[in-house]
Amino acid sequence: MAPPAPSVWNRVEALLDRVEKPAQYAGGERNQVLKDPRSVAVRVALAFPDTYAIGMSHLGLRVLYGILNERPDCWAERVFCPWSDMEAAMRASSVPLATLESHTPLAAFDLVGFSLSYELSNTNLLTMLDLGGIPLHRRDRAEGDPLVLAGGDGAASPEPMADFVDLFCIGDGEEALPALVDVYAECRRGGLSRRETLLEIVSRVPGWYAPEFYRPVFHGDGTMAAMEVLDPRAPDRVAEVHVASLEDAYYPVKPVIPYADCIHDRISLEVMRGCTQGCRFCQAGMIKRSQRLRSVDTLLRLARETYANTGYDEISLVSLSTADYPRLVELSGRLHEEFKGKRVNVSIPSLRVNETLKLVPGLVEGVRRSSLTIAPEVATDRLRKVINKDIRNEHLYSGIEEAYRRGWHAVKLYFMVGLPTETDEDVRAIVEMGTACSEVGRKAGVGPKQATISVSNFVPKPHTPFQWHPMPVAEELRRRGSLVRDLARGNRRLKVRIHDVERSLLEGVLSRGDRRVGAAVL
Ligand code: SF4
Repeated sequence: MAPPAPSVWNRVEALLDRVEKPAQYAGGERNQVLKDPRSVAVRVALAFPDTYAIGMSHLGLRVLYGILNERPDCWAERVFCPWSDMEAAMRASSVPLATLESHTPLAAFDLVGFSLSYELSNTNLLTMLDLGGIPLHRRDRAEGDPLVLAGGDGAASPEPMADFVDLFCIGDGEEALPALVDVYAECRRGGLSRRETLLEIVSRVPGWYAPEFYRPVFHGDGTMAAMEVLDPRAPDRVAEVHVASLEDAYYPVKPVIPYADCIHDRISLEVMRGCTQGCRFCQAGMIKRSQRLRSVDTLLRLARETYANTGYDEISLVSLSTADYPRLVELSGRLHEEFKGKRVNVSIPSLRVNETLKLVPGLVEGVRRSSLTIAPEVATDRLRKVINKDIRNEHLYSGIEEAYRRGWHAVKLYFMVGLPTETDEDVRAIVEMGTACSEVGRKAGVGPKQATISVSNFVPKPHTPFQWHPMPVAEELRRRGSLVRDLARGNRRLKVRIHDVERSLLEGVLSRGDRRVGAAVL
């Protein structure tokens, strides 16, 4: 076995007095896992193509870190995309991107696995490969280079990144990655080549797509005709893998506790995976089916253990649609009971409008009452039917009324414009709904309250019923956003935030593009 690559910590440390938030590059946090590199068969860099603050908040990364490090034969470390000041300093001093645990450059790892959570971070993946000393194009990688993996929601649109990633995970990484590590270790022991290793993986481990073994074929007009399979051992169709039971699935009760600021620095308790609602624009709802639940008893146990290992003061009940967790009232009640003497709050970040909404302000009683965040998406019954979002205004208004009554000061409402069949009447209704949500405060006896209307642009996503639907052109999206802004002008209780149109268009290209888009990403 080759000796482990030397740490570059001294060279990283020398840059830290020139950059903002240097703690994010230091590692050494509580609960990080250190191992002797000589004692493991496979070394994995778990890479997040965004900053430390965002990546350390990502539950999927915590799960993979924990699950791989429980194995004695594997050491998983973390690496995040540096801010632009650190990137410039690293390039100027030729310091390679390295992991936080052992400060080993990425090029020295066996596997470098990226969590792709949204399309616009794709270019950060290339930045990290470049800084880490790994050839960007998979065709340029040599036998000694790591295998570059990518999973997460972004891997649902693999083709734009197919020239740069050796293996995409289609489905739940906690099922597919440990199985891949098993086969990879076996291939290493057997001295298999890079190509043979890839073939062993795709032929034996469900859920892995290696673009090397597939060639897209296009019609004369540029539309896609077929995907040619280049090696008979590669599957014709890549089977998606899913954790069968969330109840038995791994949960990281000892996550690394960040030193630097993070978006979410708290216990993220995944109560449920999948969503049964079937909103037609929602990719996560479609690709994460079916709905799998954790029991209340298990969630209590996990919360207790994680609290003991971290001391966090907030437990967030996370899932695609926590309001649909069937035993939410019981779960919240028991968590409050368990943690009430410990000054631990329970929060619910994603709220769907249903009959449970009016109970939510009471369920999260201990939490700082700033603003209630709700995603009605659209404001007319007609458009709700089009997108299959089954919500009722009375549930929305009664939920907000209850929140105001219990001391909440404001409401944030998330909408989309540009949806199929949308008219100006639908767009105008967004402002009417925002106004009504503000005015509900009068009914609650606290006077009109602040309502923020956040408007994003519809991006048709693959694997959804709207996947073939065209996006409105930029001018039209801007016009609809401006219509919301103009109608809200003059109402000082309404704040409007409009999502950047260019970013949405880019997201549309990256989520539905084919392999030819890779040249533009590069
Ligand atoms: S309720 Fe939310 S998560 Fe579920 S399908 Fe609709 S938008 Fe997606």
